[in-house]
Amino acid sequence: MSKVRVRFAPSPTGYVHVGNARTALFNWLFARHQGGINILRIEDTDAERSKPEYETQLVADLQWFGLDWDEGPDKGGPFAPYRQSERREIYAQHSQQLISQGDAYYCFCSPEQLEAEREEALKAGRQPRYSGRCRKIPPEEAARRKSAGEPSAVRLKIVESSFFWIDRVHGPTTISSEVIGDPILVRSEGLPAYNFAAVVDDHLMEITQVIRGDDHISNTPRQLALYRAFGWEPPEFAHLSTILGPDRTRLSKRHGATSIANFRAEGILPEALRNYLLLLGWSASDGKTEKLNTKEMIAQFSLDRITKSPAVFDRKKLDWLNGEYLFALPPNERREYFLKMVTGVLIQEGYLTEDELNRAGDFIGEILLVIIESKGKANLSDLARMIFEYDGRIVAARENTRLTLEDAAAKEILIDFIRQVIAQPELSFERFQEIMKFLGEKTGKKGKQLFHPIRIALTGEESGPELKKMIPIFEDGAQLLLKRHVKSCAGRLREFAAAAKLQL
Ligand code: GLU
Repeated sequence: MSKVRVRFAPSPTGYVHVGNARTALFNWLFARHQGGINILRIEDTDAERSKPEYETQLVADLQWFGLDWDEGPDKGGPFAPYRQSERREIYAQHSQQLISQGDAYYCFCSPEQLEAEREEALKAGRQPRYSGRCRKIPPEEAARRKSAGEPSAVRLKIVESSFFWIDRVHGPTTISSEVIGDPILVRSEGLPAYNFAAVVDDHLMEITQVIRGDDHISNTPRQLALYRAFGWEPPEFAHLSTILGPDRTRLSKRHGATSIANFRAEGILPEALRNYLLLLGWSASDGKTEKLNTKEMIAQFSLDRITKSPAVFDRKKLDWLNGEYLFALPPNERREYFLKMVTGVLIQEGYLTEDELNRAGDFIGEILLVIIESKGKANLSDLARMIFEYDGRIVAARENTRLTLEDAAAKEILIDFIRQVIAQPELSFERFQEIMKFLGEKTGKKGKQLFHPIRIALTGEESGPELKKMIPIFEDGAQLLLKRHVKSCAGRLREFAAAAKLQL
């Protein structure tokens, strides 16, 4: 049997988001499992929306994600070029072929005319589709009008009444052609339409399986019609289910991080993301194994285990897997990784300049400790907010702060604590321990009752990393060089006491 050949065919019009990353992964796993060929094809025929910078980013994102390809724009291969914008000649020849065969025709309808017809159909409650008006123009007349310079698109004649294929995910699938008007193959500006370019390329590149998102299911009949018109054997199709957000609507930016670049910046490891996206629409044959390294993924991957129902994106599970992979790293690599993540986020979010960073060794080390000791669970963005964006007025105005202060014992502990810190504003770790010991003995309180009011006043949060780890961060941050960003403990407490009108 000939080798399996699959392709990932992104349009470089934005960042690689979760859905496309999963498509790329499934194609790659399928090719590697089968010992086949994985191809990267850039679908950049939409000249307005496609940008070379997006292609560069896309390649970098896929490489970071850990995928590779055997043929592609950067690699070349037997069916080069792999960028659709460089294949215009090929599409022109093929559209010419369909016109000469009588399977395609020139359409002279203006955009206004088409729009009016569309609206009319919608008003009448009909599904809009092209009327087929220009099909009736005799070919000689069409050729004459075309050579006289009249703008024209090329359309395919749909002759079948329905389309059928056996989808590798959804099984036998039939779509009636009632909803399908003659599709445009080449637009009036001469640009090939997606369906046309994709079919020509999939055939010429000898693609055996088309694995893509199910948003393309409605394109498949149009593509099958093209295979029929050319007399080509269609590949197999596998349409991957939609990815939903926790609210069960289609996953989008509204749901938070959704692009590979976002996850990378947030410190997700590529192997964790691969593992997670694998589970988003595929399950191991025992129905329960969740943690699979790359070797295991390749060994076990099969199209038969892809799930039909929509997959819900579960950030908690991704974070759990990320923790698993992080803590499997040797300690020095893990530290290195966290260091890069901490410094990356602080610089990227504008909290620190490069220069400040170079002078802030201890301060960074202390943040790092919090992250490492939380086993990666402490969210760096939340932590950064606690450190850099403390505002006593906002904290004092919060409902939970007010409730805390309504408790007389809590208020007393807090006032006592603030008095002591303000009296000797440098709060060392030892002094903090001493003060807490003293307050514990004095009030007979311990644990949460003792620490909670102080945590709120110092960090503005109800929960978080241990106070004894946060205090050195605040103190050193303020001391070192970051006065303009980081407030010391005494500074925070003064601000808080004034805003909460505490009688000190
Ligand atoms: N360029 C299309 C996309 O990004 C490819 C679809 C396909 O795989 O056929 O959605």
